Amino acid sequence: MTAEKNPSINGLLFQIMKRTALLTFWFLTLALSARAADNIGILGSKPKWSVLEHYQETITRDEFAHLIHDVYCTHGLAPDLIEVNADTARILTNHESQNFLALRFAKSDTARNPVPRLWHPAKSLPSAKANKPLSGLRIALDPGHLGGKWAKMEERWFQVGSSQPVQEGDLTLKVARLVAARLRELGAKVFFVRHSNEPVTPKRPDDFRELARTILIKNGVPQSRADVLDSNDLEKEQTIRWQSEILFYRYSEIRRRASLVNFKLHPDLVLCLHFNAEGWGDPNNPTLTDINHLHLLVNGSYLQQELEFDDERFEMIRRLLSRAYDEELPLADTIAATMARETQLPPYQYPTTNSTTKVGTSGYVYARNLLATRLYRCPVVYCEPYVMNSNDAFARIQAGDYEGTRNVNGIERKSIFREYADSVAAGLVEYYSKARGL
Ligand SMILES: [Zn+2]
Repeated sequence: MTAEKNPSINGLLFQIMKRTALLTFWFLTLALSARAADNIGILGSKPKWSVLEHYQETITRDEFAHLIHDVYCTHGLAPDLIEVNADTARILTNHESQNFLALRFAKSDTARNPVPRLWHPAKSLPSAKANKPLSGLRIALDPGHLGGKWAKMEERWFQVGSSQPVQEGDLTLKVARLVAARLRELGAKVFFVRHSNEPVTPKRPDDFRELARTILIKNGVPQSRADVLDSNDLEKEQTIRWQSEILFYRYSEIRRRASLVNFKLHPDLVLCLHFNAEGWGDPNNPTLTDINHLHLLVNGSYLQQELEFDDERFEMIRRLLSRAYDEELPLADTIAATMARETQLPPYQYPTTNSTTKVGTSGYVYARNLLATRLYRCPVVYCEPYVMNSNDAFARIQAGDYEGTRNVNGIERKSIFREYADSVAAGLVEYYSKARGL
């Protein structure tokens, strides 16, 4: 499940909650930006626009315009933020001071300066043996969420009767360990962004109580309650508890993971591993469904409101200029095809196109602006297979991990964890073998 999802209430109630969550998100974002003169998103930092000087004349106007219109700003773009002219792009760097950066385009493909970046595109890797198609490649695995004792707080927990509780953060870590073993056999150097069910951030919810209170006051809740009543509490988002927890497990945690990726691990690729879900209602009495699907995400499809933030606009432009998309899109398409083949899952269709844009050729890949896909400064492929509360996936999760195949729901199948791991590894083998001419 992506961080923005919150499957806590059924039906109409769920819709209301979703709307409230979205409103809260915007209030929260606006409240924080109103406080900071720098117009920065939640727990964000002031952008260093001078870094972009290194990207002068590294991209042609056509390529820049294509990436802006077809990938990153598919919901439109205010010309006072980014204006694409004949020889330059004029990019607003600071809302308050109204300063701009002039990004000069390369005159032609052959006149382009090299793109500065720390990660290695597949085509730039040295030659490899056919049985080690991932040799020389640094891959960071990011198992989504935390799991363990944090799973309930994250709203990534449900339990059917007295069966084993389903905790997304534990499932993703299990998959990551299997993926790591396979990728190492194939020659890759593998790192874990999270290797246990404890947070990477040293912060805890209590560290954000004051910030949570400030956010609620700006949201028009001057006398906020301290605590949530229960998981069905309709006004839980107006409590200091709920706000400080989300600042901890989402914003602080993902930003800390990004620091680890960007300043320590320096991978050529990050794989974000998740399991999807449909709204399950009461986590102690969850709804199971026959709906099951697969999709993958790459960064893009920024909302106009998101582009108003100086840091988000900066991160988008830096990402665009790094050409991470040129690597992550074909990679995501290839992994999607191997995952679809092995899992037999149909592509997920987002109910609206408000925050996503379908990209690529597989039918399974969407562009979406998530914190992780935006902040990790290298190609990022974000996997969302299996609806955890589908009857099929639930039975397979309960069956646990095992070698070989077993009969689950009348079909001989690998464990859901191995099927996930093997199909991701198969996609990487296919993509890198082809790119390296093996
Ligand atoms: Zn998830």
